[in-house]
Amino acid sequence: MQRTVSAQEEAPRRAVTRSTIAALCLLWGLFGLWANNLLDERRHTMEQVLDRQRAAVEEQVHGIFAIIETFLAVANHWVAAHPDLDPRSEPEFAALVHDFQQVNNKSLTFRLADSDGTLHLVPEVENAKPANIADRDYFIAAMNNPPGQLSVSSPYVGRATSHHAVSVATRLTKPSHGLSVVYIAIELDMLEEVFAKARSHQDGVITLIRKDGIILARSASEKIEVGRSVADGPVFRQGLSQSDHGVLFTPSSITDHIPRLVAFGALDRYPLVVAVGAGYDDIMAEPKAAIMRVAVILLLVSLLLLLARWKIISGLDALTASRAQLLASHDHLAAEVDERRQIETALQRSESDLRAILDNMTDMFYRTDNQGRLSMVSRSVKTLLGYEPDEVLGQNAAMLHYEADGRAKLLETLEQSGSVADYPFRARHKLGHGVWVAASAHRLPGPKGAVSAIEGVCRDISQSRAQLEEIQRSNAELEQFAYVASHDLREPLRMIASYLGLLERRCGDALSEDGKEFLNFARDGAKRMDRLVLDLLDYSRIGRRGEAVAPMPLKPAIDQCLRHLAMTIEDGKASVMVDDSLAEARIIGDQDQIMRLFQNLIGNGLKYHAEGRNAEITISGRQVEGNWELCVSDNGIGIDPAYSERIFGLFQRLHTQQSIEGTGIGLAVCKKIVERHGGTIWVESQPGQGCRFFFTLPSVF
Ligand code: ADP
Repeated sequence: MQRTVSAQEEAPRRAVTRSTIAALCLLWGLFGLWANNLLDERRHTMEQVLDRQRAAVEEQVHGIFAIIETFLAVANHWVAAHPDLDPRSEPEFAALVHDFQQVNNKSLTFRLADSDGTLHLVPEVENAKPANIADRDYFIAAMNNPPGQLSVSSPYVGRATSHHAVSVATRLTKPSHGLSVVYIAIELDMLEEVFAKARSHQDGVITLIRKDGIILARSASEKIEVGRSVADGPVFRQGLSQSDHGVLFTPSSITDHIPRLVAFGALDRYPLVVAVGAGYDDIMAEPKAAIMRVAVILLLVSLLLLLARWKIISGLDALTASRAQLLASHDHLAAEVDERRQIETALQRSESDLRAILDNMTDMFYRTDNQGRLSMVSRSVKTLLGYEPDEVLGQNAAMLHYEADGRAKLLETLEQSGSVADYPFRARHKLGHGVWVAASAHRLPGPKGAVSAIEGVCRDISQSRAQLEEIQRSNAELEQFAYVASHDLREPLRMIASYLGLLERRCGDALSEDGKEFLNFARDGAKRMDRLVLDLLDYSRIGRRGEAVAPMPLKPAIDQCLRHLAMTIEDGKASVMVDDSLAEARIIGDQDQIMRLFQNLIGNGLKYHAEGRNAEITISGRQVEGNWELCVSDNGIGIDPAYSERIFGLFQRLHTQQSIEGTGIGLAVCKKIVERHGGTIWVESQPGQGCRFFFTLPSVF
């Protein structure tokens, strides 16, 4: 099953991220708007406050200058009205001046000057230090201006008082007694005191400026700034050039470089400008602090939002992981279920196939449990033994044996070899008669020590058995015939031999050389005939007189055969080697015949040794599929592979009687013995390279 979940997994993560970003944007957007609004509002409020302050200061300045103008007008009028009186010595005028100064707290000082600029006090003070103001700008301006017009000075340090002051002067309409100019000096301290009271902010500053830009007075500032020109500053260049009064922002003050909000206004009657400023940072400190506080809170909220997003995403990741795990185990389960289903289907199919085979097979399939009870049997039990399957299921399998000890014998063989193939026995038919069957069965693996369950197939061999019995009978007859014939044949042979001997003894001298030779031929023939008859007797005995096969160790049989051949081995200086692997080998066989088998093969190895080479014979073996595969090899003359089949036939020889003696029966006997044990025999050889005779015998399980 293919998983397509990655896109689905991505979607909620993206939604969470998008919502977080949207929330953050909204929060900070609103915050920006609010902060901007707050700053704007503050600025607007401050503009209004400053403008009101500017109006108040303007009114105060206007008041001071109105008093000064009025008194200068009174003084001018008095001098003009009393041309013959000297104001310096006239008590009435002195009283006027005295009252004026008293009222104004002595911060306004009234003075007179003659046309040379010589300063005169009222009332005159004897031996006063003479002072001259001819170089002062207000004196020069007053002398140049028409009488009655006010001239405002730049700030200066008073020569008589050493105080910082600003003077307002005018020329007398009718000069008398040499006096031409009257003026009033204003102590800057007084003005600055007035401004200081009106000042409301730390960085706030109130400035009185002459119309030409010269600073006359300034609150909370160094005196040094007084007298400077700010004609090039923003108040004059931007503000007053457009309007009599207003409020503007100066990013950097021309005097102290502090950014300020400045309310400015020009007085109508006097050549004066009032500027009230407040430090921009000072004004904005409060809203900025509020903005900072909110920003910190917002920052925390943002962090919380990001944290929440992170938590949600981690949660989603964990969910995704467990989902993936679930899907994986689901896939795994599905695959397993699939596999099981396939196995089940295959099982069902093979079961039904098996059932079909069992139902249709002519052989009888059966299975017993470890108690010997039939647990499964094919339908063919009906055709073979006349029973319905249900009649035998659950019954002991012994009931199907005709011989009383039939089952016990089969079990014994199975116990030894684990399995049987074509094991013949007589089964009992339902009607009571015996039926020859061949069983191929094996033990099923079961608990140790317990009687094993058995499974096998029984084939009806009654027909072939009958044929076999017939063959056996005729074989037995033949063997009997061969035996009797060969036994009886030896008698006339013995007679021929003994009469030939008699003939030689009695008439030997009378015989010619040819006659003697013929006699020898006749005696050799009789001897050979006897040998042939003996071998034939042996051959016929194999089937006739054989012992029952039984488990037996192999090594003693080989040893016994070697003892029989000891003389021949010794005479031929031959060597026979038996492989260690055979030390424990056990087979199921007839001891005498097995011994005979080895004797024939080893004997041939000795007999057919190569000229000039001592015979070396090796006997070895290995276990192959429940059998021992044994090998007798020699280093003799070898056999052309073309004859490797033929040599196992009766009377088949590859040599003439003259070259090597023999009857051609030895290997036929070997073949008969091996086949009687259910094995096969064959040879591998090349001429001149020795022979390797192989044969199989059933091994003990
Ligand atoms: P024989 O009595 O002639 O030995 P066998 O049946 O034993 O009869 O052997 C048949 C023939 O097989 C022999 O004549 C011989 O030619 C050949 N033969 C058997 N064994 C060997 C061997 N070990 N080496 C070479 N030839 C052999």
